[in-house]
Amino acid sequence: MADLTSNRPTRTLADGNEIPLLALGVWQVPDGPECENAVRWALEAGYRHIDTAQAYGNEASVGRALRDSGVAPEDVFLTTKFNPGLRDPEAEVQRSLERLGVEAVDLYIVHWPQGGPTWAWDGMQRAHERGYARSIGVSNFNVSEIDAVRKVADVAPVVNQVQFSPFEFRRELWEACESRGIALEAYSPLGTGRHLRDRRVADVAERLGRTPAQVLIRWALQRNLIVLPKSTHRDRIEQNAQVFDFELSPGDMETLDGLDGTGGTDRALERSWW
Ligand code: NDP
Repeated sequence: MADLTSNRPTRTLADGNEIPLLALGVWQVPDGPECENAVRWALEAGYRHIDTAQAYGNEASVGRALRDSGVAPEDVFLTTKFNPGLRDPEAEVQRSLERLGVEAVDLYIVHWPQGGPTWAWDGMQRAHERGYARSIGVSNFNVSEIDAVRKVADVAPVVNQVQFSPFEFRRELWEACESRGIALEAYSPLGTGRHLRDRRVADVAERLGRTPAQVLIRWALQRNLIVLPKSTHRDRIEQNAQVFDFELSPGDMETLDGLDGTGGTDRALERSWW
């Protein structure tokens, strides 16, 4: 279990690399000043993990913000994702590294299992072997898809990044990942903003003198999940990092667990977009 009393808790992945539990996600953040500011503010607020993707089109801004921040590159955990609409994970990671202006990313993930779960894995392993990515993983993979990758893998995936929150509490998927040495990363932890309006979350937040966003992020942290909230507002980016000085009681955790609408599924998504 990560030490949640520390300001920057990490967990150790199955390959030995250490990953900060809290990340800034930058999906739907336009390339340019908006993205650069968000990343800069996050680094100033103490975030040491940024989650981008080839498909987000903003790797160059992430790279610029990192360079301008004055934070040592080796102190920031950088994730990007292979766009499976393209052909070659090894060639594409090299393009990502150019855009990001770094020698290697910490984590490189197959963004979704388009065209089947296994075809890209050879290229992912080459990216790892050549040192372009320190860790490799997957995203939006069901248990059966993870097992298909593990069957062909020399280097197994160490994370699965999936939609995960109290409202999408995919318990079977989470347990299957943990039992296979795969850390789960919770994307859309605020339901892309939707879950912040839920009365039951607001009730817990009000009682604790916190915000709904802090409650949802804290729920994920207390499950030892890596959590990737997105915001482009400085005050919210800061607020979302102020989650290490309070605790949800077992009763609050249970209340939040009860919001699940997936039936504790082992599936990564109810409907795929590819
Ligand atoms: P989140 O669930 O993080 O919610 C973001 C929304 O909540 C935005 O509208 C943001 O507004 C708002 N918000 C954030 N913090 C606060 C706050 N404290 N108070 C009020 N409103 C707030 O959204 P995402 O769906 O973007 O998921 C987060 C990240 O997960 C992505 O950025 C990406 O990195 C990853 N992801 C990965 C996917 C994958 O397929 N692998 C798919 C989807 C997401 P504003 O920005 O205006 O402040």
